[in-house]
Amino acid sequence: MTKKYSNGEITIVWKPHICIHSGICFRELPQVFNPNKVPWVNQNAAETGVIIHQIGMCPSGALSYFRNTDTEEPGK
Ligand code: SF4
Repeated sequence: MTKKYSNGEITIVWKPHICIHSGICFRELPQVFNPNKVPWVNQNAAETGVIIHQIGMCPSGALSYFRNTDTEEPGK
């Protein structure tokens, strides 16, 4: 299963079967990643650059993203 959350600029991709529940994402950016909420990702609660930075901190690779323009304009 893969979950996707788009904020219009990027799409956050979460692969729960890879997540090792390190807690880094929700300790450092709880306004976006909050496991006590449904859905647990609020992709509109921080700027895209902040979210991208946080995704880069995920130790397992469970979090990733793609820019929405990547799918709309392949080859660019
Ligand atoms: S940082 Fe990555 S591995 Fe850790 S809880 Fe968040 S999604 Fe899971």
